[in-house]
Amino acid sequence: MTAVAGAVAGAAYIVAALLFILSLAGLSRHETSRRGVTFGIVGMAIALVATIWLTAAAAWAEPSATTGLVLLVIAVVVGGAVGLWRARIVEMTGMPELIALLHSFVGLAAVLVGWNGSLYDTGLTGALADIHHAEVFIGVFIGGVTFTGSIVAFLKLSARMSSKPLMLPGKNVLNVGALVAFLVLTVWYVITPELWLLVLVTLLALALGWHLVASIGGGDMPVVVSMLNSYSGWAAAAAGFLLNNDLLIVTGALVGSSGAYLSYIMCKAMNRSFLSVIAGGFGIEAPRSDDAELGEHREIDAESAADLLANASSVVITPGYGMAVAQAQHGVADLVAKLRERGADVRFGIHPVAGRLPGHMNVLLAEAKVPYDIVLEMDEINDDLSQVDVVLVIGANDTVNPAAAEDPGSPIAGMPVIRVWEAQNVIVFKRSMASGYAGVQNPLFSRENTQMLFGDAKEKVDDILMHLAAGAKTAGRA
Ligand code: NDP
Repeated sequence: MTAVAGAVAGAAYIVAALLFILSLAGLSRHETSRRGVTFGIVGMAIALVATIWLTAAAAWAEPSATTGLVLLVIAVVVGGAVGLWRARIVEMTGMPELIALLHSFVGLAAVLVGWNGSLYDTGLTGALADIHHAEVFIGVFIGGVTFTGSIVAFLKLSARMSSKPLMLPGKNVLNVGALVAFLVLTVWYVITPELWLLVLVTLLALALGWHLVASIGGGDMPVVVSMLNSYSGWAAAAAGFLLNNDLLIVTGALVGSSGAYLSYIMCKAMNRSFLSVIAGGFGIEAPRSDDAELGEHREIDAESAADLLANASSVVITPGYGMAVAQAQHGVADLVAKLRERGADVRFGIHPVAGRLPGHMNVLLAEAKVPYDIVLEMDEINDDLSQVDVVLVIGANDTVNPAAAEDPGSPIAGMPVIRVWEAQNVIVFKRSMASGYAGVQNPLFSRENTQMLFGDAKEKVDDILMHLAAGAKTAGRA
């Protein structure tokens, strides 16, 4: 019975793995992303049912294994209920920290699986036992780093902890030293698998995960989030080796490699090398970033902004995290429709790290049903900006900061940004002169062609819509 059950579960795992691959392929494009999510859900449902089936078959064959089945059912019910509850109430702006928290669970699970693997007598001998011990050690290490690293990322993203980097003296030496210590301890554990070594590597991994992410500044968080995503995948794959579960190995490898690729894209978008991100950098106090240096800024009201837009033939909108906070995407979509009706050419310029999540802005704009073909990436829009009449910067800040391109002393120097200042007119929607996530002042606000529209982005967009409609009526009567 268990052999048959194993074969059925094995076949189900292959189907689930294929569905996960199709899911990733679907998620890579707007048009197919819904289908991608559906594939993912079906794949996960098959994987869960197959795992429960396997455990139930084991309990049937060997009544002492019933405890495992009971625990599994309890875990699925409790986990499913909590997951459903959180997913229903989470705000779009809270997604990054929720994801960071979920990564921490994967890390914790890998640590527990590793510990279980060390305490459980596998009966293996010789080279196979050595491989098993190495798997335990590596699994615990990756899991531990992922666990505390993700918790710090959660605390930073939810502003429960300062996003400023922790600057311990010799922090790079500490990180490299921890890695070297891990390698030495792994060899030691394979030769003599003693419990104290496992305790030591667990503590080392927990401390390293904490330190790695704590020492990374605000501006580098996008890379950190995708890096932890990757680590969580490798942690799951390590757990898969220990549990002899092919699906976990395949899924872990998929998450691990796609997370690593995403980290690469993020690094490229921010003109950073992966190693320099790990070593920290962005978010370190700028040598000089005086408020006084920024100069005066000009303000505009919604009515004048509406007038400017009514006379513009080309408009570019660069949204940022503030659009997500204000939930202004629906108003923005209405504004786009209205301006296009009037014959204006309207496009979006999306920075790869705008918002707090890779693809954050694309998700919001898709939700508001903005046509995909006018949503362009930074590299597609940058060269056109000098021909644009009006740029609306809606709740974006770091991603449109000219200091990144022009001031080598700036903490975000070298990060590619959307060059909105090249347009004829720039209107910045935000509530105050506060800096963005990286904590860096923005000289855009005092440029001659920039005007600040202070207030909540959603309210201001609605006000502009109202004035445009009123203007159209007046024009109709005239
Ligand atoms: P920023 O975080 O730089 O700035 C957002 C701006 O929105 C703030 O200056 C804020 O100003 C304004 N704002 C907030 N709420 C509102 C509101 N209700 N109405 C109007 N404005 C509002 O955003 P960007 O998108 O430009 O940059 C993203 C930053 O986040 C980058 O530094 C990036 O590295 C980082 N990051 C990105 C991640 C990703 O994966 N995309 C992950 C983690 C971090 P004010 O308070 O004055 O209103």
